[in-house]
Amino acid sequence: MLRNLTRSSRKLSASAQLGARLHNWQSEKLTDIGTGVNYDSDMDIFREQCRKFWAGISAERVEKWDKNHMPDAEIWREAGEAGLLCIDTPAEYGGIGAPFEYSMVACEEQAYAGPKFYGPGFGLHSGIVAPYITSFGTEEQKHKYIPSMTTGETISCIGMTEPSGGSDLQAMKTNAVRDGDDWILNGSKTFISNGTLANLGLIAARTKKEGRAAHAISLFLVDTREHNGFNKGKNLRKIGQHSYDTAELFFDDVRLPASALLGEEEGLNKGFYMMMNELPRERVGCALEALARLENAFEQTRQYTQERKAFGGPLSDKQVIKHSMAEIKTEIVSVRLMADECVRLYSRGELDNETASMFKLYATEKYVSCVNKLLQHWGGWGYMWEYDIAKEYAGARVFTIYAGTSEIMKELISRDVYPRK
Ligand SMILES: Cc1cc2nc3c(=O)[nH]c(=O)nc-3n(C[C@H](O)[C@H](O)[C@H](O)COP(=O)(O)OP(=O)(O)OC[C@H]3O[C@@H](n4cnc5c(N)ncnc54)[C@H](O)[C@@H]3O)c2cc1C
Repeated sequence: MLRNLTRSSRKLSASAQLGARLHNWQSEKLTDIGTGVNYDSDMDIFREQCRKFWAGISAERVEKWDKNHMPDAEIWREAGEAGLLCIDTPAEYGGIGAPFEYSMVACEEQAYAGPKFYGPGFGLHSGIVAPYITSFGTEEQKHKYIPSMTTGETISCIGMTEPSGGSDLQAMKTNAVRDGDDWILNGSKTFISNGTLANLGLIAARTKKEGRAAHAISLFLVDTREHNGFNKGKNLRKIGQHSYDTAELFFDDVRLPASALLGEEEGLNKGFYMMMNELPRERVGCALEALARLENAFEQTRQYTQERKAFGGPLSDKQVIKHSMAEIKTEIVSVRLMADECVRLYSRGELDNETASMFKLYATEKYVSCVNKLLQHWGGWGYMWEYDIAKEYAGARVFTIYAGTSEIMKELISRDVYPRK
């Protein structure tokens, strides 16, 4: 303890001389409050509030979420009341209107709360769906949906992936055809996060039969409270992330008014362009969550290896374990450096698609490989579902698949390596 204090105060005085905040890896724990070069003391207060919110959810309630493979709808209203939804969505439309970094603090805190909180999908709702509406929606659409998304009365999802494929969005089969002023939507989507609880779906569909899909896809705001025919399939059973609601959606002749088209006439056939525009944010959110989850798993393992005894002493005394943890910490720090820079660039409007793809690729691959190494230090207990590290291991696996697979990230990055002439 004394040694830790001395070490911390040495670092603190060094940082005070520089007038800077500590990086999180310079503090006692990677999850300590009061660190992070992009954050400030107001954000620390917000972080404390987030931490309190997640700590206030009972173990019995989360157990139910795990069993039902989705959270309850009430948690959305509770999060709304606590100011955890649409955090950086402009206040003029009914969002909280805080700087982007606050939403990153909220993302980290949900991850630090542990793998039983993979769901609810607040990040997708506030950090993916809301920005589509505020960036491309009409004034009417923004005023219609953002206030109730901020309170948690509207729960949103985004539907791109179809049973026949997710990477190749241009091959999308779901289509919408005009009928007078209305649109008739047909098709299906799968693996849709928040899908069962959602009452608002942002759904991608082909709106032009001929021509390149890049100029033939539009996005629709499908409100289950207003339209008949939006059927939800079974809640999908996944190998991990059991508290995250994942569903299939079916659209059988769903009649939508012209006002359901995102951006109305201006948004027609611009869906692909909109997706390209929003991808950097989706990737930063996914990568940062992966990093924060890895940091949390690291701290849990650090503690466990200090307590668990073998051959007359704690595991943390064994050189193999010490070196492994040193290596993992170094990998985490390399991801954190990338995270800090990407968050800084994003908040200045300077993050390009390739850099966001590199961050997503690197952070999620490190999450999967490092959690695998951390689990090894738990021995057989690491394989038991009651332990967080087992849930983390199963939950991590999908991070290199959703929000664009690692292969697709490499494809995008390679276009920058070898630009088309
Ligand atoms: C838990 C979960 C939640 C999800 N949430 C959502 C959601 O909310 N909304 C949504 O729309 N989608 C969601 N998805 C879908 C996710 O984005 C897709 O699974 C992902 O994009 C991959 O698509 P796919 O599963 O159809 O795989 P495929 O596209 O069939 O790919 C299969 C494999 O082939 C590789 N591959 C494909 N094309 C190439 C290529 N050109 N070069 C090299 N390799 C290639 C892929 O990388 C992958 O390894 C979710 C998925 C999961 C599992």
